[in-house]
Amino acid sequence: MISNVLEVDTVTKAFERVKAVDQLSFRIERNEIFALLGPNGAGKTTTVRMLLGIIRPDSGFVRFRLNGQEVASPLSSELGYLPEDRGLYKELPIEKTLIYMGVLRRMRRADAAKATSEWLERVGLKDRAKDKLETLSKGNQQKVQFISSILHKPAFVILDEPFSGLDPINQEFFLGVIRELRDSGTTVLLCAHQMNLVERLADRVLLMNRGREVLQGTVPHIKDQARSTQKVILTVQENIDISQFKDSSAVLDVQRQSDGALVFLLKKGESINGFLQSVSSKVTITAIHSEQISLHEVFVQSVQSDEGELLIENQK
Ligand code: ATP
Repeated sequence: MISNVLEVDTVTKAFERVKAVDQLSFRIERNEIFALLGPNGAGKTTTVRMLLGIIRPDSGFVRFRLNGQEVASPLSSELGYLPEDRGLYKELPIEKTLIYMGVLRRMRRADAAKATSEWLERVGLKDRAKDKLETLSKGNQQKVQFISSILHKPAFVILDEPFSGLDPINQEFFLGVIRELRDSGTTVLLCAHQMNLVERLADRVLLMNRGREVLQGTVPHIKDQARSTQKVILTVQENIDISQFKDSSAVLDVQRQSDGALVFLLKKGESINGFLQSVSSKVTITAIHSEQISLHEVFVQSVQSDEGELLIENQK
């Protein structure tokens, strides 16, 4: 008997001109926030559409285990989905829409009305309950969309770009809500481009590119797999041309920050001391700061490296 909630096993889906998903495998356990990441066109939406049963894989399989039952696709009452293209009725009052969506997902009307009222209160939209969706700001419309996907307390939730259109305060709020969902037993699959938020939220991450897995694991694990693991930020006296550092054997990348400080990504295994010695022969260092690279940097490095491999493959 499998204990996980979702199992995706060597799934492949090709369209006429492109292999959108290529031999992709992952499992998402109960009480877990799993982030599916990748650049535009990586195959995330195609993967989600296969999970939802909208399209079928060419090969491989998708299997859910929800509330003790093994199923190929979940019932509407068991699944919550926040689509990237938001699709709620714009001309209906938001309260009416939310209750309707709850009933569609097999809630009793009274329960749907109670949950709607509680959520609207929580997100500060209680006084807008009778207003049409289209009269709300983009961020507030996004809140209503989010509520509609989780009102019925589904066992499995797919959130496609849940933070888009939200200001930092609301991003923090929904970060908390998604953690609450996880802690109350919901399984969460998240697609998002805000790496700083994903880094704080996801229990595990799958980075894909060109339909294939590039990295998979916990955030610390995938940082460890990256080509650089260490970032050194130097404040220097001289206004130096940074291109001269790009050929350094220890440096994977160097950039200048808006405050003038130089940000170096060191190649894996390089010692900071050795690097500092070589830099100090060229510039006068006035401040040094070192930290682990961010998920954003892992994403950029890994995707660029994967694209580089494609280039080499094509040149063969
Ligand atoms: P984004 O971050 O931009 O939303 P994504 O990771 O969700 O991108 P997909 O939408 O899954 O990427 O697309 C993966 C690839 O499959 C792309 O090359 C896309 O053009 C192609 N594709 C997706 N759907 C179809 C379709 N219905 N017909 C043909 N090609 C498709």
